[in-house]
Amino acid sequence: MTNTSTNSWNHYYTPKTVTEAVELLRRYDGRARVIGGGTDLAVEIRRGLHRPVEAMVDATRIAGLDKISRETDYIVIGCGVTHSQIVRSELIIRYGTCLSESCSVIGGPQVRNVGTLAGNVAHALPAGDGTIGLLALGGEIEVAGTDGTRWLPVENSFRGPGKSFIDRNREVLTRLRFRPTAEREGSAHHRVMRPQGLCLPIISLAVRLRLGDDNTISHARISMGPVGPVPYLVEAAMDALLGKPASEDAFVNAAEIALQSVSLRASKYRASHEYREEMLRTYLPRTLQRAAQRATAAGGHDS
Ligand SMILES: Cc1cc2nc3c(=O)[nH]c(=O)nc-3n(C[C@H](O)[C@H](O)[C@H](O)COP(=O)(O)OP(=O)(O)OC[C@H]3O[C@@H](n4cnc5c(N)ncnc54)[C@H](O)[C@@H]3O)c2cc1C
Repeated sequence: MTNTSTNSWNHYYTPKTVTEAVELLRRYDGRARVIGGGTDLAVEIRRGLHRPVEAMVDATRIAGLDKISRETDYIVIGCGVTHSQIVRSELIIRYGTCLSESCSVIGGPQVRNVGTLAGNVAHALPAGDGTIGLLALGGEIEVAGTDGTRWLPVENSFRGPGKSFIDRNREVLTRLRFRPTAEREGSAHHRVMRPQGLCLPIISLAVRLRLGDDNTISHARISMGPVGPVPYLVEAAMDALLGKPASEDAFVNAAEIALQSVSLRASKYRASHEYREEMLRTYLPRTLQRAAQRATAAGGHDS
């Protein structure tokens, strides 16, 4: 399709296969860009924050990549899947609760109806909500380029604020996946933001916990943002929880350890450093508690 109304791009393609998408990107040799719902990219181009591109390659029409499925050990999400689809998915509500919760707070319904989790991850913003949910679940992404496809842990894809190791002019993030929470596992997400909404979070955090039969923590993942240049896994706090009983003391201690390893921003319009510190101190223990309750609920998957 040729664009006549604006000079931001000249051609817009809707490939039906990954091979076709990668071939288009190869042909444009860096002058084309992959687009999902466009809720970040189109806004940036319109604001002049992104240089115009010769062609857009829309990844949302690729056959088979518009759905969520259960495949052996993983729940797999295609790059065309929107936040609204994730929020409605029984599979994700049940087996990846923190991802469902994190996608449910993104923008408003219009943004969630077209914005994709793939776009959220590929954009690599330090506080991308869906990304933070996927990171806590131990998510992985599949990237396709002319050299073939590769899976990598989502945390290995971030290079800096808005910078990704995915070459978005030459590669397509095709699928995302995570291992479903099992018996004695639970996850939760919480975001603090200004009441008027539709702006970046003050703090967005997600956790995944696994408990042993004696209620000790045998696995923990904690992700959050914005607490540094990229969405962040708080490994020191994760390590501190291992082998501890799932108790308020352990959760409060994890929050104190997290505070020592993150770098909280102060911003004139959103929140002071002290306020963010208080929010982390308050909500990390509560979010851990919610994940632990879910892990111990009947069937292990209470909502
Ligand atoms: C009003 C408003 C409110 C918002 N609120 C929030 C919020 O609360 N929380 C939040 O996290 N975000 C928010 N956003 C940002 C945005 O909606 C999300 O980041 C969304 O997930 C982006 O997905 P998309 O499909 O629209 O990405 P796009 O805009 O299409 O693309 C984003 C980036 O990813 C690349 N890309 C997209 N898909 C692929 C792919 N398959 N392979 C390789 N590269 C790809 C693009 O080249 C671009 O660099 C908001 C945006 C708006 C406009």
